[in-house]
Amino acid sequence: APARLPVALLEREYDVVVGEGLLERAGGLLSGVLPARRVAIISDASVAALHLPALRHGLQAGGFEIRAALTIPPGEGSKSLATFGRVLEELLAAGIDRDTAVVALGGGVVGDLAGFVAASALRGLPFVQVPTTLLAQVDSSVGGKTGINLAAGKNLAGAFWQPRIVLADTGVLRTLPARERRAGYAEVAKHGLLQGPLWEWCEAEGARAVAGDSVALRHAVLESCRLKSAVVAADEREESAEGGRALLNLGHTFGHAVEAECGYDGSLLHGEAVALGLGLAARLSARLGFCEAALPGRVEAHLAAAGLPARLAELPRRFAVDTLMRRMRKDKKVRDGRMRFVLLRGPGQAFTSAEVPPAEVEALLRDEG
Ligand code: NAD
Ligand code: ZN
Repeated sequence: APARLPVALLEREYDVVVGEGLLERAGGLLSGVLPARRVAIISDASVAALHLPALRHGLQAGGFEIRAALTIPPGEGSKSLATFGRVLEELLAAGIDRDTAVVALGGGVVGDLAGFVAASALRGLPFVQVPTTLLAQVDSSVGGKTGINLAAGKNLAGAFWQPRIVLADTGVLRTLPARERRAGYAEVAKHGLLQGPLWEWCEAEGARAVAGDSVALRHAVLESCRLKSAVVAADEREESAEGGRALLNLGHTFGHAVEAECGYDGSLLHGEAVALGLGLAARLSARLGFCEAALPGRVEAHLAAAGLPARLAELPRRFAVDTLMRRMRKDKKVRDGRMRFVLLRGPGQAFTSAEVPPAEVEALLRDEG
């Protein structure tokens, strides 16, 4: 049976439903939470070819009318102003009204774009997330952050727009390429390090999730969503610079810098950058004396076993330390000009610090080679 996790927000509560076969049952699952039985589906061409028929059937079986089913090209390039504008125009041309729900069927790219479209069209439409990548199921579909990229940087235009329900159908992950599954797993490992017991599960069972085992994937998605929804409920709009959602940036200050250097061309996936960032965060924590000396080795060994990079030296290209430092100083999350790192005292004991001496970070990056 599917599991339901309630996410309690200020305005309302919504469920994250985790299980197999949810697409086929979408009509029943959505009927109680939407104002009308009318939807517009947004997907990318690859996902639509694989999974749109099942979602269509599921919705129609529940008496839903599908006003439009729009597809965008797969890939980060679709999180653009141009695609945002085109999708908005097509939705309105299809005759949607204020009670038509926007359903995002796809990975984080589709979810982020469709969510921002839902927030904008007619000043806001009901929104449903049907995440189809592991990354989207464990991370991007929960929490209400939506948006697109600008020339000035990633995710620089967007809105907080919460879904009415999230349907995380772990069955659709069977068609996900192995590299995408590994990359999504990096966020599971991150949640594990933030939460504690989930890290121990990762070390013991995580490899099975990476290999595609459905029981392990269900556990990984469920426990990740439990952690993320609790953090989001406590800090819906990322108002705290120290705690709350800021902790979800574990591994991301480094990760974003490396990712930006690689230029989002698919050569380094977000999750792969996060894995590097987790390794670096653990080493920085040990270097500053916050955690036991053995933790970085444990983190690196686990990521390596999952087929993820944990050290910059594992990448085919080298990065100039100055360039990475400059990138980190420009991170969107930097407030009052000081870099803020999420550090670990141990699994389950993360904290943020704006006091890390830049010289220590530079020395660490130099040691990386
Ligand atoms: P993605 O959406 O580009 O999907 C990766 C690839 O997998 C695509 O080619 C897609 O077509 C394909 N795919 C998706 N589902 C599939 C399936 N079931 N079977 C086969 N192929 C499938 O990438 P992603 O990793 O899911 O998301 C990355 C995006 O998420 C980034 O833009 C990032 O900024 C965003 N993100 C947002 C948040 C948030 O809180 N909103 C959090 C983390 C990441
Ligand atoms: Zn991430």
